[in-house]
Amino acid sequence: MTDEDKYQARAQRMITRWSGQRMPVSRRETAEGEVLRHAPPAVGALDVAQQVYHEPAKALPVLTTCDVLVVGAGPAGISAALAARRAGADTVLLERFGCLGGVITTVGMETLAWYRYEGTVEGEGIGIEMERIAAQMGGAIKWPYNDSQCLDADFFKVVADHLITEAGVRPILHCMAVDVIFEEDGKRLRGIVTESKSGRQVVLAKRIIDCSGDADIAHLAGASYRKTPKDKMLGMTTVFNAAGVDTRAFLDYTESQPATYADWSRTWAQETTGKEDTLRSPYLDKEFDTARELGVIPADSTNIGGSWSALTPAGEATNLNLAHMYGFDPTDVMDLTRAEMQGRQEALHALVALKKVVPGFENAKLRNFGMTLGIRDSRKIMGRYNLCSEDVRNQAKFADSIGIFPEFIDGYNILILPTTGRYFEVPYGCMVPLEVDNLLVAGRCVAGDMVSHAAMRNMMACTVTGQGAGVAAAVSIRQDKSTAQVDLHGVQAELERQGVRLH
Ligand SMILES: Cc1cc2nc3c(=O)[nH]c(=O)nc-3n(C[C@H](O)[C@H](O)[C@H](O)COP(=O)(O)OP(=O)(O)OC[C@H]3O[C@@H](n4cnc5c(N)ncnc54)[C@H](O)[C@@H]3O)c2cc1C
Repeated sequence: MTDEDKYQARAQRMITRWSGQRMPVSRRETAEGEVLRHAPPAVGALDVAQQVYHEPAKALPVLTTCDVLVVGAGPAGISAALAARRAGADTVLLERFGCLGGVITTVGMETLAWYRYEGTVEGEGIGIEMERIAAQMGGAIKWPYNDSQCLDADFFKVVADHLITEAGVRPILHCMAVDVIFEEDGKRLRGIVTESKSGRQVVLAKRIIDCSGDADIAHLAGASYRKTPKDKMLGMTTVFNAAGVDTRAFLDYTESQPATYADWSRTWAQETTGKEDTLRSPYLDKEFDTARELGVIPADSTNIGGSWSALTPAGEATNLNLAHMYGFDPTDVMDLTRAEMQGRQEALHALVALKKVVPGFENAKLRNFGMTLGIRDSRKIMGRYNLCSEDVRNQAKFADSIGIFPEFIDGYNILILPTTGRYFEVPYGCMVPLEVDNLLVAGRCVAGDMVSHAAMRNMMACTVTGQGAGVAAAVSIRQDKSTAQVDLHGVQAELERQGVRLH
Protein backbone atom coordinates (compact mmCIF):
# COMPACT_ATOMS: atom_id res chain seq x y z
CA MET A 1 0.00 0.00 0.00
CA THR A 2 1.45 3.40 -0.96
CA ASP A 3 1.52 6.33 1.46
CA GLU A 4 -1.24 7.99 -0.51
CA ASP A 5 -3.42 4.85 -0.24
CA LYS A 6 -2.85 4.84 3.52
CA TYR A 7 -3.90 8.49 3.86
CA GLN A 8 -6.99 7.81 1.72
CA ALA A 9 -7.91 4.81 3.86
CA ARG A 10 -7.49 6.87 7.06
CA ALA A 11 -9.53 9.72 5.64
CA GLN A 12 -12.26 7.26 4.55
CA ARG A 13 -12.38 5.73 8.03
CA MET A 14 -12.82 9.18 9.55
CA ILE A 15 -15.53 10.13 7.08
CA THR A 16 -17.34 6.87 7.81
CA ARG A 17 -17.12 7.48 11.56
CA TRP A 18 -18.51 11.03 11.22
CA SER A 19 -21.37 9.68 9.19
CA GLY A 20 -22.38 7.55 12.17
CA GLN A 21 -21.20 4.09 11.10
CA ARG A 22 -19.38 2.08 13.78
CA MET A 23 -15.95 0.82 12.87
CA PRO A 24 -14.08 -1.91 14.75
CA VAL A 25 -11.42 -0.39 17.06
CA SER A 26 -8.11 -2.17 17.45
CA ARG A 27 -7.28 -2.81 21.12
CA ARG A 28 -3.81 -4.09 20.34
CA GLU A 29 -0.91 -2.38 22.13
CA THR A 30 0.74 -0.30 19.44
CA ALA A 31 3.10 1.83 21.53
CA GLU A 32 6.50 0.44 22.40
CA GLY A 33 8.20 0.86 25.76
CA GLU A 34 7.09 0.32 29.31
CA VAL A 35 4.05 1.94 30.89
CA LEU A 36 5.20 4.74 33.20
CA ARG A 37 3.66 6.21 36.30
CA HIS A 38 4.93 8.99 38.57
CA ALA A 39 4.69 8.25 42.31
CA PRO A 40 1.51 10.01 43.52
CA PRO A 41 2.27 12.96 45.83
CA ALA A 42 1.80 12.78 49.60
CA VAL A 43 -1.47 14.33 50.73
CA GLY A 44 -1.17 17.95 51.86
CA ALA A 45 -3.71 19.94 53.87
CA LEU A 46 -6.21 22.15 52.13
CA ASP A 47 -7.56 24.91 54.39
CA VAL A 48 -10.66 26.04 52.54
CA ALA A 49 -11.57 28.70 55.11
CA GLN A 50 -8.19 30.44 54.77
CA GLN A 51 -7.97 29.62 51.04
CA VAL A 52 -4.50 28.12 51.42
CA TYR A 53 -2.95 24.73 50.71
CA HIS A 54 -0.18 23.36 52.95
CA GLU A 55 2.21 21.44 50.71
CA PRO A 56 3.62 18.20 52.09
CA ALA A 57 7.42 18.11 52.59
CA LYS A 58 9.28 16.61 49.64
CA ALA A 59 12.85 15.43 48.88
CA LEU A 60 14.09 17.30 45.80
CA PRO A 61 16.89 15.93 43.60
CA VAL A 62 19.92 18.14 42.94
CA LEU A 63 19.99 18.94 39.23
CA THR A 64 23.51 20.39 39.28
CA THR A 65 26.12 22.18 41.41
CA CYS A 66 28.31 25.08 40.27
CA ASP A 67 30.44 28.00 41.41
CA VAL A 68 28.23 30.78 40.05
CA LEU A 69 24.55 30.46 39.19
CA VAL A 70 22.99 33.22 37.10
CA VAL A 71 19.19 33.31 37.12
CA GLY A 72 17.67 34.96 34.04
CA ALA A 73 19.36 35.24 30.64
CA GLY A 74 18.57 38.77 29.48
CA PRO A 75 21.33 41.29 28.63
CA ALA A 76 22.34 41.31 32.32
CA GLY A 77 22.31 37.53 32.74
CA ILE A 78 24.25 36.76 29.57
CA SER A 79 26.88 39.35 30.58
CA ALA A 80 27.05 38.03 34.15
CA ALA A 81 27.50 34.44 33.00
CA LEU A 82 30.16 35.28 30.39
CA ALA A 83 32.06 37.48 32.85
CA ALA A 84 31.99 34.91 35.66
CA ARG A 85 33.12 32.14 33.32
CA ARG A 86 35.87 34.27 31.82
CA ALA A 87 37.04 35.00 35.38
CA GLY A 88 37.45 31.26 35.91
CA ALA A 89 34.20 30.20 37.61
CA ASP A 90 32.19 27.12 36.66
CA THR A 91 29.00 28.96 35.68
CA VAL A 92 25.40 27.91 35.08
CA LEU A 93 22.95 30.23 33.28
CA LEU A 94 19.34 29.32 34.05
CA GLU A 95 16.40 30.70 32.05
CA ARG A 96 12.64 30.12 32.24
CA PHE A 97 12.06 30.38 28.47
CA GLY A 98 13.57 28.31 25.66
CA CYS A 99 16.06 30.94 24.50
CA LEU A 100 18.61 33.35 25.88
CA GLY A 101 18.30 37.12 25.36
CA GLY A 102 15.53 38.29 27.71
CA VAL A 103 13.70 41.37 26.42
CA ILE A 104 15.76 41.25 23.19
CA THR A 105 14.58 37.83 22.04
CA THR A 106 11.37 37.28 24.01
CA VAL A 107 9.85 40.75 23.55
CA GLY A 108 11.55 41.64 20.26
CA MET A 109 13.41 44.74 21.46
CA GLU A 110 16.29 45.31 19.06
CA THR A 111 17.70 48.66 20.03
CA LEU A 112 20.56 47.99 22.41
CA ALA A 113 22.37 51.28 21.79
CA TRP A 114 20.00 53.68 20.00
CA TYR A 115 21.15 56.48 22.32
CA ARG A 116 24.54 56.49 20.52
CA TYR A 117 24.32 59.84 18.76
CA GLU A 118 27.56 61.68 18.08
CA GLY A 119 29.62 62.38 21.20
CA THR A 120 28.61 59.34 23.24
CA VAL A 121 31.28 57.80 25.49
CA GLU A 122 30.78 54.05 25.92
CA GLY A 123 31.83 51.74 28.75
CA GLU A 124 33.09 48.99 26.43
CA GLY A 125 32.69 45.50 27.89
CA ILE A 126 30.30 42.69 26.97
CA GLY A 127 27.39 44.88 25.80
CA ILE A 128 29.48 46.36 23.01
CA GLU A 129 30.90 42.90 22.26
CA MET A 130 27.35 41.51 21.88
CA GLU A 131 26.39 44.28 19.46
CA ARG A 132 29.57 43.83 17.39
CA ILE A 133 29.42 40.05 17.21
CA ALA A 134 25.72 40.14 16.25
CA ALA A 135 26.57 42.54 13.41
CA GLN A 136 29.51 40.38 12.28
CA MET A 137 27.27 37.29 12.24
CA GLY A 138 24.81 39.12 9.97
CA GLY A 139 22.22 39.46 12.72
CA ALA A 140 21.82 43.24 12.81
CA ILE A 141 20.71 46.15 10.66
CA LYS A 142 21.85 49.75 11.05
CA TRP A 143 19.51 51.88 13.18
CA PRO A 144 17.94 54.61 11.00
CA TYR A 145 19.51 57.74 12.50
CA ASN A 146 22.94 56.89 13.94
CA ASP A 147 25.62 54.19 13.77
CA SER A 148 24.09 51.86 16.36
CA GLN A 149 22.71 48.46 15.37
CA CYS A 150 19.19 47.01 15.50
CA LEU A 151 19.71 43.42 16.60
CA ASP A 152 17.67 40.86 14.70
CA ALA A 153 15.70 39.64 17.71
CA ASP A 154 15.25 36.06 16.53
CA PHE A 155 18.77 35.73 15.23
CA PHE A 156 20.09 37.00 18.55
CA LYS A 157 19.01 33.66 20.05
CA VAL A 158 21.77 32.08 17.96
CA VAL A 159 24.26 34.83 18.77
CA ALA A 160 23.68 34.27 22.49
CA ASP A 161 23.90 30.47 22.12
CA HIS A 162 27.19 30.96 20.34
CA LEU A 163 28.62 33.35 22.96
CA ILE A 164 27.86 31.18 25.96
CA THR A 165 28.92 27.94 24.24
CA GLU A 166 32.21 29.48 23.17
CA ALA A 167 32.86 30.67 26.75
CA GLY A 168 31.95 27.32 28.33
CA VAL A 169 28.94 28.55 30.33
CA ARG A 170 26.49 25.72 31.16
CA PRO A 171 22.94 26.69 30.07
CA ILE A 172 19.67 25.36 31.51
CA LEU A 173 16.61 26.46 29.55
CA HIS A 174 12.89 25.94 30.23
CA CYS A 175 13.58 26.14 33.94
CA MET A 176 12.17 28.65 36.42
CA ALA A 177 13.66 29.55 39.81
CA VAL A 178 10.85 29.37 42.36
CA ASP A 179 12.50 29.27 45.78
CA VAL A 180 15.83 29.76 47.55
CA ILE A 181 17.99 27.66 49.84
CA PHE A 182 20.04 29.22 52.64
CA GLU A 183 23.14 28.08 54.50
CA GLU A 184 22.41 27.26 58.12
CA ASP A 185 23.10 30.89 59.16
CA GLY A 186 19.96 31.90 57.25
CA LYS A 187 21.85 34.78 55.64
CA ARG A 188 24.11 33.32 52.93
CA LEU A 189 22.42 31.80 49.90
CA ARG A 190 23.33 28.21 48.98
CA GLY A 191 21.06 27.45 46.04
CA ILE A 192 17.64 27.63 44.47
CA VAL A 193 14.64 25.39 43.85
CA THR A 194 13.57 25.11 40.22
CA GLU A 195 10.39 24.05 38.41
CA SER A 196 10.52 22.53 34.96
CA LYS A 197 9.19 19.60 32.96
CA SER A 198 11.63 17.54 35.05
CA GLY A 199 9.69 18.52 38.16
CA ARG A 200 10.94 20.39 41.23
CA GLN A 201 14.73 20.24 41.51
CA VAL A 202 17.62 22.01 43.21
CA VAL A 203 20.62 23.90 41.83
CA LEU A 204 23.41 24.49 44.35
CA ALA A 205 25.91 27.32 43.90
CA LYS A 206 28.60 29.16 45.82
CA ARG A 207 27.31 32.50 44.52
CA ILE A 208 23.99 33.46 42.89
CA ILE A 209 23.34 36.42 40.59
CA ASP A 210 19.72 37.50 40.22
CA CYS A 211 19.21 38.75 36.65
CA SER A 212 15.49 37.92 36.56
CA GLY A 213 14.48 41.53 35.82
CA ASP A 214 11.93 41.28 38.63
CA ALA A 215 14.45 40.57 41.45
CA ASP A 216 12.68 37.22 41.95
CA ILE A 217 15.54 35.65 43.89
CA ALA A 218 16.10 38.67 46.14
CA HIS A 219 12.37 38.76 46.80
CA LEU A 220 12.17 35.02 47.58
CA ALA A 221 15.20 35.35 49.86
CA GLY A 222 13.52 38.10 51.89
CA ALA A 223 15.69 41.01 50.71
CA SER A 224 13.95 44.37 50.90
CA TYR A 225 12.92 46.08 47.69
CA ARG A 226 10.68 48.86 46.42
CA LYS A 227 8.18 48.95 43.60
CA THR A 228 6.92 52.04 41.77
CA PRO A 229 3.22 52.57 42.60
CA LYS A 230 1.09 50.93 39.91
CA ASP A 231 -0.33 54.22 38.63
CA LYS A 232 3.18 55.66 38.13
CA MET A 233 4.86 52.56 36.68
CA LEU A 234 6.40 52.76 33.21
CA GLY A 235 4.03 51.15 30.72
CA MET A 236 4.15 47.58 29.47
CA THR A 237 4.29 47.05 25.72
CA THR A 238 3.32 44.36 23.23
CA VAL A 239 5.99 44.67 20.56
CA PHE A 240 5.07 43.32 17.13
CA ASN A 241 6.58 42.81 13.68
CA ALA A 242 4.89 43.39 10.32
CA ALA A 243 5.55 41.79 6.94
CA GLY A 244 4.47 42.96 3.48
CA VAL A 245 5.67 46.53 4.02
CA ASP A 246 6.78 48.68 1.10
CA THR A 247 9.81 49.94 2.99
CA ARG A 248 10.82 52.45 0.28
CA ALA A 249 7.41 54.12 0.36
CA PHE A 250 7.50 54.18 4.17
CA LEU A 251 10.99 55.73 4.26
CA ASP A 252 9.90 58.37 1.72
CA TYR A 253 6.98 59.15 4.02
CA THR A 254 9.25 59.52 7.09
CA GLU A 255 11.52 61.83 5.11
CA SER A 256 8.55 63.98 4.14
CA GLN A 257 7.29 64.06 7.75
CA PRO A 258 10.54 64.04 9.76
CA ALA A 259 9.93 63.28 13.44
CA THR A 260 12.26 64.50 16.19
CA TYR A 261 12.45 63.89 19.93
CA ALA A 262 10.45 67.09 20.46
CA ASP A 263 7.50 65.18 18.96
CA TRP A 264 7.50 62.87 21.99
CA SER A 265 6.16 65.86 23.94
CA ARG A 266 2.92 65.82 22.01
CA THR A 267 1.60 63.09 24.29
CA TRP A 268 3.97 63.28 27.29
CA ALA A 269 5.01 66.53 28.97
CA GLN A 270 8.62 65.54 28.42
CA GLU A 271 11.75 67.00 29.97
CA THR A 272 14.85 67.21 27.76
CA THR A 273 18.00 69.33 27.94
CA GLY A 274 16.97 70.98 24.67
CA LYS A 275 19.79 69.41 22.61
CA GLU A 276 17.61 66.33 21.99
CA ASP A 277 14.72 68.27 20.47
CA THR A 278 16.04 68.62 16.93
CA LEU A 279 17.50 65.11 16.58
CA ARG A 280 15.67 62.77 14.21
CA SER A 281 13.59 60.07 15.90
CA PRO A 282 11.88 57.01 14.35
CA TYR A 283 8.57 58.08 15.84
CA LEU A 284 4.92 57.63 14.83
CA ASP A 285 2.19 59.27 16.85
CA LYS A 286 -0.04 61.80 15.08
CA GLU A 287 -0.83 59.07 12.52
CA PHE A 288 -2.85 57.32 15.23
CA ASP A 289 -4.83 60.53 15.93
CA THR A 290 -5.76 60.48 12.24
CA ALA A 291 -6.81 56.83 12.52
CA ARG A 292 -8.98 57.64 15.54
CA GLU A 293 -10.56 60.61 13.74
CA LEU A 294 -11.30 58.38 10.75
CA GLY A 295 -12.91 55.84 13.09
CA VAL A 296 -10.43 53.16 11.98
CA ILE A 297 -9.51 52.37 15.57
CA PRO A 298 -11.51 52.99 18.77
CA ALA A 299 -11.46 56.53 20.15
CA ASP A 300 -10.26 55.22 23.52
CA SER A 301 -7.13 53.55 22.04
CA THR A 302 -5.09 56.47 23.30
CA ASN A 303 -1.97 54.57 24.36
CA ILE A 304 -0.92 53.78 20.81
CA GLY A 305 2.15 55.54 19.43
CA GLY A 306 5.91 55.17 19.61
CA SER A 307 8.87 53.96 17.62
CA TRP A 308 9.63 51.85 14.59
CA SER A 309 13.08 50.38 14.11
CA ALA A 310 14.53 48.00 11.48
CA LEU A 311 13.20 47.80 7.91
CA THR A 312 14.42 44.69 6.14
CA PRO A 313 14.90 43.97 2.42
CA ALA A 314 12.28 41.21 2.92
CA GLY A 315 9.62 43.91 3.47
CA GLU A 316 9.46 43.64 7.25
CA ALA A 317 9.10 46.42 9.79
CA THR A 318 10.28 44.95 13.09
CA ASN A 319 10.28 46.07 16.71
CA LEU A 320 7.08 48.12 16.35
CA ASN A 321 7.01 49.56 19.86
CA LEU A 322 3.55 51.12 19.61
CA ALA A 323 0.99 49.42 21.87
CA HIS A 324 1.37 50.35 25.53
CA MET A 325 -0.56 49.49 28.69
CA TYR A 326 -0.59 51.16 32.07
CA GLY A 327 -1.78 50.29 35.56
CA PHE A 328 -0.69 46.62 35.59
CA ASP A 329 1.64 45.03 38.14
CA PRO A 330 4.23 42.71 36.51
CA THR A 331 4.43 40.57 39.65
CA ASP A 332 0.67 39.82 39.68
CA VAL A 333 -0.27 36.85 37.50
CA MET A 334 -3.80 38.09 36.82
CA ASP A 335 -2.53 41.55 35.81
CA LEU A 336 -0.06 39.84 33.48
CA THR A 337 -2.86 37.78 31.97
CA ARG A 338 -5.04 40.81 31.32
CA ALA A 339 -2.14 42.89 29.98
CA GLU A 340 -1.01 40.14 27.57
CA MET A 341 -4.47 39.91 26.03
CA GLN A 342 -5.11 43.65 25.99
CA GLY A 343 -1.66 44.16 24.45
CA ARG A 344 -2.42 41.88 21.51
CA GLN A 345 -5.66 43.75 20.90
CA GLU A 346 -3.96 47.16 21.06
CA ALA A 347 -1.17 45.96 18.76
CA LEU A 348 -3.74 44.89 16.19
CA HIS A 349 -5.41 48.31 16.45
CA ALA A 350 -1.98 49.84 15.80
CA LEU A 351 -1.51 47.64 12.73
CA VAL A 352 -4.94 48.49 11.33
CA ALA A 353 -4.14 52.18 11.77
CA LEU A 354 -0.76 51.80 10.06
CA LYS A 355 -2.41 50.02 7.12
CA LYS A 356 -5.00 52.75 6.70
CA VAL A 357 -2.93 55.87 7.37
CA VAL A 358 0.79 55.27 6.83
CA PRO A 359 2.17 54.97 3.26
CA GLY A 360 4.02 51.69 2.72
CA PHE A 361 1.88 49.72 5.18
CA GLU A 362 -1.20 49.32 2.92
CA ASN A 363 -0.58 45.58 2.38
CA ALA A 364 1.15 44.88 5.66
CA LYS A 365 0.21 41.87 7.76
CA LEU A 366 1.06 40.79 11.26
CA ARG A 367 4.26 38.72 11.14
CA ASN A 368 4.37 37.99 14.87
CA PHE A 369 4.00 39.40 18.37
CA GLY A 370 6.93 39.28 20.77
CA MET A 371 6.58 35.94 22.55
CA THR A 372 5.82 37.78 25.78
CA LEU A 373 4.70 41.18 27.02
CA GLY A 374 7.51 43.70 27.57
CA ILE A 375 7.99 44.85 31.19
CA ARG A 376 9.90 48.05 32.01
CA ASP A 377 9.28 48.57 35.71
CA SER A 378 9.18 46.03 38.54
CA ARG A 379 10.89 45.28 41.87
CA LYS A 380 14.10 47.24 42.62
CA ILE A 381 16.21 46.00 45.51
CA MET A 382 17.23 48.22 48.40
CA GLY A 383 21.00 48.05 48.08
CA ARG A 384 24.12 48.91 49.98
CA TYR A 385 24.00 51.99 47.75
CA ASN A 386 20.80 53.24 46.11
CA LEU A 387 21.49 55.19 42.94
CA CYS A 388 19.61 58.48 42.63
CA SER A 389 18.65 61.09 40.10
CA GLU A 390 21.57 63.30 41.16
CA ASP A 391 24.05 60.48 40.35
CA VAL A 392 22.87 59.77 36.83
CA ARG A 393 22.35 63.44 35.93
CA ASN A 394 25.62 64.74 37.39
CA GLN A 395 28.41 62.37 36.37
CA ALA A 396 28.68 60.58 39.74
CA LYS A 397 31.99 58.93 40.62
CA PHE A 398 32.37 55.97 42.98
CA ALA A 399 35.41 54.31 44.56
CA ASP A 400 33.68 50.94 44.00
CA SER A 401 32.92 51.65 40.30
CA ILE A 402 32.34 48.52 38.21
CA GLY A 403 31.84 50.39 34.93
CA ILE A 404 30.50 53.53 33.33
CA PHE A 405 27.27 54.33 31.50
CA PRO A 406 26.66 57.36 29.27
CA GLU A 407 24.27 60.05 30.47
CA PHE A 408 21.24 58.42 28.88
CA ILE A 409 17.95 58.74 30.74
CA ASP A 410 14.72 57.49 29.20
CA GLY A 411 11.59 57.19 31.30
CA TYR A 412 9.12 58.92 33.63
CA ASN A 413 8.82 61.77 31.08
CA ILE A 414 12.55 62.50 30.94
CA LEU A 415 14.68 62.02 27.83
CA ILE A 416 18.35 62.93 28.01
CA LEU A 417 20.64 61.67 25.26
CA PRO A 418 24.40 61.41 25.86
CA THR A 419 25.51 63.70 23.04
CA THR A 420 27.91 65.69 25.27
CA GLY A 421 30.29 62.87 26.21
CA ARG A 422 29.05 62.95 29.81
CA TYR A 423 28.76 59.66 31.71
CA PHE A 424 28.46 58.36 35.28
CA GLU A 425 30.14 55.54 37.17
CA VAL A 426 28.11 52.56 38.36
CA PRO A 427 28.85 51.49 41.96
CA TYR A 428 29.19 47.86 43.09
CA GLY A 429 26.93 48.79 46.03
CA CYS A 430 23.78 49.06 43.87
CA MET A 431 23.96 45.29 43.25
CA VAL A 432 24.41 44.24 46.89
CA PRO A 433 21.15 43.47 48.73
CA LEU A 434 21.06 44.44 52.40
CA GLU A 435 19.85 41.30 54.15
CA VAL A 436 21.16 38.41 52.02
CA ASP A 437 24.79 37.45 51.34
CA ASN A 438 26.39 35.64 48.40
CA LEU A 439 23.61 37.08 46.26
CA LEU A 440 24.16 39.88 43.77
CA VAL A 441 21.43 41.54 41.71
CA ALA A 442 22.12 42.86 38.20
CA GLY A 443 20.11 44.35 35.34
CA ARG A 444 17.02 46.48 35.62
CA CYS A 445 16.32 45.55 39.26
CA VAL A 446 19.47 47.13 40.77
CA ALA A 447 18.98 49.57 43.66
CA GLY A 448 17.94 53.09 42.79
CA ASP A 449 15.18 55.68 42.53
CA MET A 450 12.87 56.23 39.58
CA VAL A 451 15.12 58.60 37.60
CA SER A 452 18.16 56.36 38.04
CA HIS A 453 15.99 53.45 36.88
CA ALA A 454 15.30 55.39 33.67
CA ALA A 455 19.07 55.09 33.05
CA MET A 456 19.94 51.70 34.57
CA ARG A 457 17.04 49.82 32.92
CA ASN A 458 18.59 50.37 29.48
CA MET A 459 20.06 47.22 28.01
CA MET A 460 23.63 48.48 27.74
CA ALA A 461 23.52 49.56 31.41
CA CYS A 462 22.17 46.08 32.28
CA THR A 463 25.25 44.58 30.62
CA VAL A 464 27.47 46.82 32.77
CA THR A 465 25.94 45.57 36.04
CA GLY A 466 25.77 42.02 34.66
CA GLN A 467 29.48 41.97 33.87
CA GLY A 468 30.32 43.64 37.20
CA ALA A 469 28.29 41.09 39.16
CA GLY A 470 29.69 38.12 37.22
CA VAL A 471 33.27 39.20 37.85
CA ALA A 472 32.59 40.03 41.52
CA ALA A 473 30.99 36.61 42.12
CA ALA A 474 33.95 34.77 40.57
CA VAL A 475 36.57 36.92 42.32
CA SER A 476 34.83 36.53 45.70
CA ILE A 477 35.18 32.74 45.35
CA ARG A 478 38.83 33.13 44.46
CA GLN A 479 39.35 35.38 47.50
CA ASP A 480 37.28 33.07 49.72
CA LYS A 481 35.20 36.06 50.79
CA SER A 482 31.46 36.56 50.53
CA THR A 483 29.97 38.97 48.00
CA ALA A 484 29.38 41.46 50.81
CA GLN A 485 33.06 41.35 51.81
CA VAL A 486 34.83 40.91 48.48
CA ASP A 487 37.90 43.10 47.99
CA LEU A 488 36.90 45.51 45.24
CA HIS A 489 40.47 46.03 44.00
CA GLY A 490 40.52 42.43 42.80
CA VAL A 491 37.12 42.87 41.13
CA GLN A 492 38.21 46.07 39.38
CA ALA A 493 41.48 44.49 38.22
CA GLU A 494 39.60 41.56 36.61
CA LEU A 495 37.07 43.93 35.01
CA GLU A 496 39.90 45.94 33.49
CA ARG A 497 41.50 42.70 32.27
CA GLN A 498 38.15 41.97 30.55
CA GLY A 499 38.32 45.37 28.80
CA VAL A 500 35.80 47.30 30.92
CA ARG A 501 36.24 51.04 31.37
CA LEU A 502 35.85 51.81 35.09
CA HIS A 503 36.35 55.62 35.26
C1 LIG B 1 8.90 47.34 25.30
C2 LIG B 1 10.25 47.68 25.80
C3 LIG B 1 11.06 48.53 25.09
C4 LIG B 1 12.34 48.81 25.54
N1 LIG B 1 13.17 49.56 24.75
C5 LIG B 1 14.46 49.65 25.05
C6 LIG B 1 15.40 50.22 24.15
O1 LIG B 1 15.05 50.66 23.06
N2 LIG B 1 16.70 50.26 24.51
C7 LIG B 1 17.13 49.78 25.72
O2 LIG B 1 18.33 49.81 25.99
N3 LIG B 1 16.27 49.25 26.59
C8 LIG B 1 14.96 49.15 26.28
N4 LIG B 1 14.08 48.58 27.16
C9 LIG B 1 14.55 48.17 28.48
C10 LIG B 1 15.35 46.90 28.46
O3 LIG B 1 14.96 46.09 27.39
C11 LIG B 1 15.22 46.10 29.75
O4 LIG B 1 15.22 46.92 30.88
C12 LIG B 1 16.39 45.12 29.82
O5 LIG B 1 16.23 44.14 28.83
C13 LIG B 1 16.50 44.47 31.16
O6 LIG B 1 17.51 43.51 31.09
P1 LIG B 1 17.62 42.41 32.21
O7 LIG B 1 18.68 41.47 31.76
O8 LIG B 1 17.72 43.05 33.53
O9 LIG B 1 16.19 41.69 32.20
P2 LIG B 1 15.36 40.99 31.05
O10 LIG B 1 15.80 41.39 29.71
O11 LIG B 1 13.94 41.22 31.44
O12 LIG B 1 15.71 39.46 31.24
C14 LIG B 1 15.31 38.74 32.38
C15 LIG B 1 15.36 37.26 32.06
O13 LIG B 1 15.10 36.50 33.23
C16 LIG B 1 14.19 35.45 32.95
N5 LIG B 1 13.52 35.14 34.21
C17 LIG B 1 12.69 35.94 34.91
N6 LIG B 1 12.31 35.35 36.04
C18 LIG B 1 12.92 34.14 36.07
C19 LIG B 1 12.90 33.07 37.00
N7 LIG B 1 12.23 33.16 38.15
N8 LIG B 1 13.61 31.96 36.71
C20 LIG B 1 14.31 31.86 35.54
N9 LIG B 1 14.35 32.86 34.62
C21 LIG B 1 13.67 33.99 34.89
C22 LIG B 1 13.28 36.05 31.90
O14 LIG B 1 12.63 35.06 31.16
C23 LIG B 1 14.28 36.86 31.06
O15 LIG B 1 14.86 36.09 30.03
C24 LIG B 1 12.78 48.28 26.75
C25 LIG B 1 11.97 47.46 27.51
C26 LIG B 1 10.71 47.14 27.04
C27 LIG B 1 9.86 46.20 27.83
